[in-house]
Amino acid sequence: MSKAFVDKVMETVTARNPGEREFHQAVQEVAESVAVVIEKNPALARLKIFERMVEPERQIIFRVPWTDDKGEIQVNRGFRVQFSSAIGPYKGGLRFHPSVYLGIIKFLGFEQVFKNALTTTPIGGAKGGSDFDPKGKSDAEVMRFCQAFMNELFRHIGPDTDIPAGDIGVGGREIGFLYGQYKKLTNTFTGVLTGKGLEYGGSLVRTEATGYGLVYFVTRMLEARSKSWKGLDVVVSGSGNVAIYAAEKAQQLGARIVAMSDSGGYIADSKGINLDTVKRIKEVERGRIKEYVQAHPSATYAEGCRGIWSVPCTIALPSATENEIDEKSARLLVKNGCLAVGEGANMPSTPEAIEVFLDGGVSFGPAKAANAGGVATSALEMCQNSMRLSWTFDEVDARLKLIMNNIYDQCQKAAETYGAKGNLVVGANIAGFLKVARAMMAQGVV
Ligand code: NDP
Repeated sequence: MSKAFVDKVMETVTARNPGEREFHQAVQEVAESVAVVIEKNPALARLKIFERMVEPERQIIFRVPWTDDKGEIQVNRGFRVQFSSAIGPYKGGLRFHPSVYLGIIKFLGFEQVFKNALTTTPIGGAKGGSDFDPKGKSDAEVMRFCQAFMNELFRHIGPDTDIPAGDIGVGGREIGFLYGQYKKLTNTFTGVLTGKGLEYGGSLVRTEATGYGLVYFVTRMLEARSKSWKGLDVVVSGSGNVAIYAAEKAQQLGARIVAMSDSGGYIADSKGINLDTVKRIKEVERGRIKEYVQAHPSATYAEGCRGIWSVPCTIALPSATENEIDEKSARLLVKNGCLAVGEGANMPSTPEAIEVFLDGGVSFGPAKAANAGGVATSALEMCQNSMRLSWTFDEVDARLKLIMNNIYDQCQKAAETYGAKGNLVVGANIAGFLKVARAMMAQGVV
């Protein structure tokens, strides 16, 4: 029945969501994992729980008109897909990138549902964004775009309804502009967005959370192989929020970061990359990673971001974007002695690449579990906002660590219970699914 179930679900999903291949990919993976659970629990099949899960509760698509610095009017498209409110208010980031279309937002929103369930915090799943490209835009242009985006989004969100956050292209600057406009439009000061500045309700550790959480998760994967980070060579793709703080924590634990990238190319240095320089270039100057070699002539730069997987390493942390590791890159990593892969980005490995890792004995931490530290800390930010309190860095960091450990344990346990011991992909999908499924069963057909 498992294959028949997956085929039937995929037939409906592909027919109903034509051309949205990232969404199909995300659904297929979860369907393959949970088919065995549904087979063992007839009520899940009878109540069409998974069939309901693959249909978003609400999808909003809207026009975002704004004026650039030359006085010309620009038009972008905005999205918010509110996927599931079964276990809490909708929650998930906003992505501003030219590649954004409905299929990307839907795949991200779908993944978010299970990820959020794994965090053990009461949050549902959503995602949003726009095909707007913040790259090369002035601060004033980014502000006008964010204000225009919020002019529509504000009526669909709220601190108890839907709480967006950042993702690719949406960092502290964008969240600030979005928050300012929400506040003006609604005349309220609430925790409606997370990733806010510390001066107006943000939480300590939120900036670092996804990257740090990823490293805490991979630490457990390494411990299962009786290893630590000390002296290991690590390749981290990307040089944005997730990549920088994953690299920072891995370095603190004794690892050497031997390569990083952006969408243009990658830098490599077997002696280790200087993160202060990366932070200056990417966070302060909003520059390109290739500028790194000017400050560090021992490093090399190569055009094209995919080549980064040819740099030998023991640990790979893909932290840029979806499908950045294909089968060929995965084979190269295994051949070069890679022992563990922790997904910082969402769905960075293709299904074929995941197969190569699992077959090759590589410990594999799937995104839903391994990068859940960001949204978990966002939930902690919501908590602090509701209490009108701010916790210390150490307090939030300790909670983050606890949550990542808990996620790891849930994945291990679910995988073992359903006959896939050690397979964290299956474990994450099943553990996340069951939590949402139980809530849906309790709430009736809604
Ligand atoms: P940022 O915008 O801060 O950084 C993204 C990085 O990835 C940049 O170095 C960027 O290069 C590179 N990149 C983006 N798109 C592409 C592409 N199509 N091809 C190659 N490189 C690309 O984003 P984040 O660090 O926040 O997000 C990175 C990943 O982590 C995403 O998959 C996101 O969904 C996921 N994630 C983020 C969370 C968070 O808390 N921020 C939480 C959980 C997951 P360039 O500068 O050249 O564009």
